[in-house]
Amino acid sequence: MIEAWRGLAARIAGYEEEIVRFQSELVACPALGPDNGGRGESDKAALVRDWLDRLAPDEIMEIDAPDERVPSGRRPNLAALFKGRGRGRVWVLSHLDVVPPGEPSLWDSDPFVLRRDGDRLYGRGTEDNHQGIVSSYFAARAFRDEGLLPALDVGLLFVADEETGSGLGLDYVIESKPDLFSPDDLIIVPDAGDEYGTMIEISEKSMLWLKFTVRGRQCHASTPDRGVNTLRASARMITALDEALPRTFGNRDPLFSIPFSTFEPTKKEANVPNVNTIPGEDVFFFDARVLPGYDLAEVKARARTVAESIAAEQGASVEMEAVQEAQAPPPTPADAPVARALARAVAAVHGREALPMGIGGGTVAAFFRRRGLPAAVWSTIAHNAHAPNEFALISNLVADAKILAHVFLGG
Ligand SMILES: [Zn+2]
Repeated sequence: MIEAWRGLAARIAGYEEEIVRFQSELVACPALGPDNGGRGESDKAALVRDWLDRLAPDEIMEIDAPDERVPSGRRPNLAALFKGRGRGRVWVLSHLDVVPPGEPSLWDSDPFVLRRDGDRLYGRGTEDNHQGIVSSYFAARAFRDEGLLPALDVGLLFVADEETGSGLGLDYVIESKPDLFSPDDLIIVPDAGDEYGTMIEISEKSMLWLKFTVRGRQCHASTPDRGVNTLRASARMITALDEALPRTFGNRDPLFSIPFSTFEPTKKEANVPNVNTIPGEDVFFFDARVLPGYDLAEVKARARTVAESIAAEQGASVEMEAVQEAQAPPPTPADAPVARALARAVAAVHGREALPMGIGGGTVAAFFRRRGLPAAVWSTIAHNAHAPNEFALISNLVADAKILAHVFLGG
């Protein structure tokens, strides 16, 4: 094991120039979904397929989702399988699509032409999610080049549509090929993490966006007795919700860096354009991130009760609507084999202790967890996904390939 590991690690260290070449080909192949004004991921999938073919995987599956909105008529999902020595199976899931570059003037160079500056590779997608594509690819390649079989069967999965909901990506793959995955598999999603590679994300909060529409009666501001002021009612509702929700749903979970549920008043729609009118309608929103142990139905019920009691007190009415709602799936257990294997690999490569953690935002891993498949989200990244001048560090790409190889080796 030790000797095999040394050989693999040295092999991966020697891939630097090829890593840069793969990144530059990926960057030059923008894969934007139609919701982002793009033509889909087919060209990029063909490019990845071409690189994969050179590794002669034991099996390649194309699990394409039909989509009339793109020229190819399909959203490509690609699975490459490499047989191991039969001690189990590990999956690494990366996504092919990228987000648009955004405001062009914020970029120092063309987002779709790779620019290398020392250890940094700049370009749209270099981190999100080429880091996963490239590091998993070269981890598999090292076994081929060393003439070694991994201990586990290795599945590399490249999906479409991650940035716009995953309905034609991972969700489609799991729906149409439910037998592809087993609860015994180690499932790694290298699509979030921290700069030290020590964050193994196993849990996420539920997300709930609530819209409150408060209705009263508009009138001249000099005669408030003739109206019902919805801004005052809204203000009182906001403070009441702000006080009641964290108190009712006050559990703590040290897995999360913000170890409790959060309930933030955020957007407020414009009401009257002038100062001397009492508003008769107000609309405001809350963004709630709720620990996975709570049922969002209970959060909604409590929020509605609080808002309605204030409305009644103010002589107004209120309508509450969940405009976005995602109940978090049950977390991956902190001692799941995937979390333990990653922690051992991170210790071997980075010399650091990686810890299971929870995050506030949702990831694509939820699609696995919802079906009882224990997935861990992990990578060593600088955190500039979706930003202008997105970059990935070559040293991180190399380290992550080594870490994945360590897992493939059954270490
Ligand atoms: Zn991503």
